[in-house]
Amino acid sequence: MNISSKDYSRLQQLDAAHHLHPFTDHKELRAAGSRIVVRGDGPFVYDSEGNEILDAMAGLWCVNIGYGRHELADAAAAQIRELPYYNSFFKCTVPASVKLAARLVELAPDNINQVFFGSSGSESNDTALRLVRHYWALEGKPEKNIVISRENAYHGSTIAGASLGGMKPMHKQLGGAVPNIVHVIAPYAFEGAEPNESDEAFGLRAARAIEEAILAAGPDKVAAFIGEPIMGAGGVRIPPASYWPEVQRICRQYDVLLMLDEVITAYGRTGEWFAAKTFGITPDTITTAKALTSGYQPLSALLVGDRIASTLVEKGGEFYHGYTYSGHPVCCAVALANLDIIDREALINRVRDDTGPYLSEQLYQKLSGHPLVGETRSVGLMGAVEIVRDKASRLRFEPSGHAATKVRDHAIANGLMVRATGDTIIMSPPLIWTRETIDLAMDRLGTALDLALDDLSGK
Ligand code: PMP
Repeated sequence: MNISSKDYSRLQQLDAAHHLHPFTDHKELRAAGSRIVVRGDGPFVYDSEGNEILDAMAGLWCVNIGYGRHELADAAAAQIRELPYYNSFFKCTVPASVKLAARLVELAPDNINQVFFGSSGSESNDTALRLVRHYWALEGKPEKNIVISRENAYHGSTIAGASLGGMKPMHKQLGGAVPNIVHVIAPYAFEGAEPNESDEAFGLRAARAIEEAILAAGPDKVAAFIGEPIMGAGGVRIPPASYWPEVQRICRQYDVLLMLDEVITAYGRTGEWFAAKTFGITPDTITTAKALTSGYQPLSALLVGDRIASTLVEKGGEFYHGYTYSGHPVCCAVALANLDIIDREALINRVRDDTGPYLSEQLYQKLSGHPLVGETRSVGLMGAVEIVRDKASRLRFEPSGHAATKVRDHAIANGLMVRATGDTIIMSPPLIWTRETIDLAMDRLGTALDLALDDLSGK
């Protein structure tokens, strides 16, 4: 088949004929057709119709250094020329994965000194689940294997990832989840707090739901708790400040391991290398992916704490788990070049000290007064706008998700890529954004809100 990559209408037809997309209603997609994204440069992507779109989602929460970085292409090309692939099974390794592992543990919390590589966040959560259960088995407690997670959590789309996650529509299609995973309420104060309950009190209540689940199962049956420091795909749900310290206290009290899923939050998103630092958490595992390579190559890294790793090493015995592409040299070389850029350009300090606080202030000043906006919130460069019908009562539009989808569609048509999840507009832009980029995004989102309000009020 000889088709020019610029023959866009033909590509659209072929896409509809042959390509099944992730998380897509294919009947709907066939009717609408796909947008073909052809190029990226800095904070912008360009589609086949010539539209320039400011990408407030950094692809899918991953392109932290922005588009068009030739340095990463050079790193990949050099590695492919030298050694395109070798495995890390059978007592072998490759220089790039060793260097990356050593680099990651320098950045990670002090108790973390080991890394297990995969190709995606889902895969690394699968690794994490097996590893914590294997740990307790090695410790002579194989029955300590329940993992506690939260409703509406997202931990990936493999069977283990979807089972760990708390997305009900995903569970329905699983045809049987991985056993011994329990879900408790999420620390989502905007919807979960009672009218006269403070966010802080609600945060403690949400943490204590974990304690109740531990006590209901019996602490000797509970292996671990897993959570995203900020729930991402679930709607950028930022927990009240009271939540994580209490979760940590509970895990320690009942000897339950603490697994953090930082697939979105790691590598600068919250203004630190890891959100573990932002929230003062000392985890036993940290799952990372996405921004590890800024999405330029598929790579994930499970960071493993000393408690688990030392048992693994001291007790020995094979851990029957791993992937062909664990520690892939090209992906690891690209990750190293990506971390160099984040470092050299001091992107994380910029988020922590400048653009993060500025985004929070601008979301509040420019958007929170809008009639459709129930709340704005952000940490670092991860933000959300709640769409409501009535500000005071927080009443939503019917059907659920309808209003936020309108806002999103107007935003995209207006040159701003944001995402709608339920009734929440979310954003997670590249860390290269400046104050000017934030201003542009706020203007475009403001216009989208106005246009959506016209639609919703029948103007
Ligand atoms: N965990 C979290 C918190 C995520 O946001 C995601 C992806 N959005 C995953 C896991 C799964 O990662 P992947 O899509 O790379 O498998």
